[in-house]
Amino acid sequence: MAGLTAAIQLKKAGFDPVIFEKESKVGAGRHGDYEGLENWIFSRNVPTFFKQSAFKFNDLTTYPISRFFVHTLFGKPITIQNNQPFFYMVKRGSGINDLDYQLYRQCKEIGVRFELGKKAPKTCHIIATGSRKAAAYIRGINFKTTLKNQVHLLLGSQFAPKGYAYLIIINGNGTLATAFKKPKNTVVNFLQNARAYFNETGISVPNEIPFGSRGSFSLPFGTMFPPYKIGEAGGYQDYLFGFGIRMSMMSGQAAALSITGKKNESQIIVKELNQKRRLSFVNRIMYEQLSDKRMAGLAIKLSEKSNPLSILADAYAWNFKNILRWINLRYRYEVRPT
Ligand SMILES: Cc1cc2nc3c(=O)[nH]c(=O)nc-3n(C[C@H](O)[C@H](O)[C@H](O)COP(=O)(O)OP(=O)(O)OC[C@H]3O[C@@H](n4cnc5c(N)ncnc54)[C@H](O)[C@@H]3O)c2cc1C
Repeated sequence: MAGLTAAIQLKKAGFDPVIFEKESKVGAGRHGDYEGLENWIFSRNVPTFFKQSAFKFNDLTTYPISRFFVHTLFGKPITIQNNQPFFYMVKRGSGINDLDYQLYRQCKEIGVRFELGKKAPKTCHIIATGSRKAAAYIRGINFKTTLKNQVHLLLGSQFAPKGYAYLIIINGNGTLATAFKKPKNTVVNFLQNARAYFNETGISVPNEIPFGSRGSFSLPFGTMFPPYKIGEAGGYQDYLFGFGIRMSMMSGQAAALSITGKKNESQIIVKELNQKRRLSFVNRIMYEQLSDKRMAGLAIKLSEKSNPLSILADAYAWNFKNILRWINLRYRYEVRPT
């Protein structure tokens, strides 16, 4: 995401970027799972954001989601809805409907060069090699289904300690996954717990194609200097829920601007990214302190709001209350240097 964004920007600015991708196809390292482009961390909504990143949003296969269900072990599932989409779901992979492939196509169309199946040489100006160290684990299953389109969030330490499990079904393709922090010496299979939960509620999840991955939440916050480390390789990630796609793309934009000599514009983006990362950090500390019951209570509160999206956006606003939280909590998180 980060590398493709940097490349399209550089090409449009008259440079001749070459992308080295270790896989034989762009997106081949991903799993064909559904991921969400969140619509609350940045003030620009997702379609505007893509246009500003130089990609044609209307050419992408995305599914806006304005309603989802939250499940906890305390009471019935809760519906959370909004008049604006919470997410635009995208598939990650090398298939023609997958985001990675579609951004690759748009880069190719304007003449970005690719060296596929080749590891990046040490002399690269930009490093966008994705996640390295694991701070959170993701286990999932992709499956085929005849069920209608739906999105569910499942909360609770038996499904996803300090994280969340999610079930996404779109056009006959399903992803069930759990993103969690691994408790020490655990043998619990959180994914199978989540699967059993949904199967019991009548949403059948077959045990089809498993995948596993990790997320890296690294510090310290960087500035942009060559060779530019962008995307998750540079620690550009949402520490709360791991919504790293837009963060990665913006860091790619910042690197491209810096290379083209627009240092001030680049710094403005990096500043915004670092603010959002700090806030996501604070939000994660607070999230990790919640008991399962308190989490369920917060989900109910969210469902009662007329505009729940704005509550999520408030949690990422660089305002007095949130800056104070950052000042008080910044030493509390484990630091994982890049
Ligand atoms: C299962 C899962 C679910 C997620 N869900 C969401 C979500 O819902 N919403 C969200 O916003 N984010 C989500 N994320 C996070 C998001 O996918 C990442 O933050 C984002 O893709 C990071 O972009 P990137 O450009 O840094 O890395 P990537 O998109 O991972 O790209 C890195 C690329 O570098 C290539 N590469 C690696 N090493 C080398 C090398 N040495 N030489 C050449 N090429 C190399 C890889 O093959 C890959 O193509 C999820 C992540 C996972 C794993």
